[in-house]
Amino acid sequence: MKVTGADAVERLRVEELSVHYGGVRAVSSVGFTVEPGQSVGIIGANGAGKSSTLKALMGLVPRSGGRISLGERDLTRVKARDMVRHGIGYVPEGRHVFPGLSVEKNLMLGAYSRAWDTETHRQLDEVYALFPVLKEMRDRLAGALSGGQQQMLAIGRALMTRPRLLVLDEPSMGLSPKLVGNILDVLRRLREEGLSLLLVEQNAKLTFGATSHCIVMENGEVAMSGTSAELSQNPRVREVYLGL
Ligand code: ATP
Repeated sequence: MKVTGADAVERLRVEELSVHYGGVRAVSSVGFTVEPGQSVGIIGANGAGKSSTLKALMGLVPRSGGRISLGERDLTRVKARDMVRHGIGYVPEGRHVFPGLSVEKNLMLGAYSRAWDTETHRQLDEVYALFPVLKEMRDRLAGALSGGQQQMLAIGRALMTRPRLLVLDEPSMGLSPKLVGNILDVLRRLREEGLSLLLVEQNAKLTFGATSHCIVMENGEVAMSGTSAELSQNPRVREVYLGL
């Protein structure tokens, strides 16, 4: 069995998405698609509008314009809490695990939208197979885990919803290079399962390693897009985002 709902992936389409905070424009007419099984990265400097794009996609900040669809379904007016029912799993920036609950309770909360049945137990086993360290620590409080382990837990919790598309906001933030490598391995494994991924990162190296396609955001707009292989060879990208 797969850990994801990747057998039923559909195209995510984001069109002319805009976000304003008060009078300040943070995202301006951003559009992209994530084809079934594709992994798409959004890179950009601090304040480029990456997180705002994801939050607006998930319905976590108000949009001042734009349309969102998954397959044939229009999700433009779907509320954040209902996105998960449409197969979109979200790993927020900063992890947001529940520190006073055990690892296993945190994972079980990921499946809140479904009845807790044998299927859910199987899903828990799949998540433990992907992250053996979480199984070892299943009874520990989430607050006692290291940053890397909390990131695994946040990804595991999102996988408990059996998503068809996994959206991750800066999963490498604050992690050592070794742990960033672990996250990269996990993302590659999910990609091999055929899960669609949308990854926002400041770490361009990780993003190019984990994705097939990338968007570069600058000042709230899409400045460049293409395959990750092409973009990682682009002289400007190499200089500005890879420091080469
Ligand atoms: P980072 O990597 O630092 O998170 P980012 O590319 O994700 O950067 P955003 O966090 O989306 O960028 O921010 C885009 C712009 O919107 C920035 O100028 C930021 O200061 C502004 N901004 C973000 N959140 C808010 C908010 N809640 N209220 C007002 N302005 C905001």
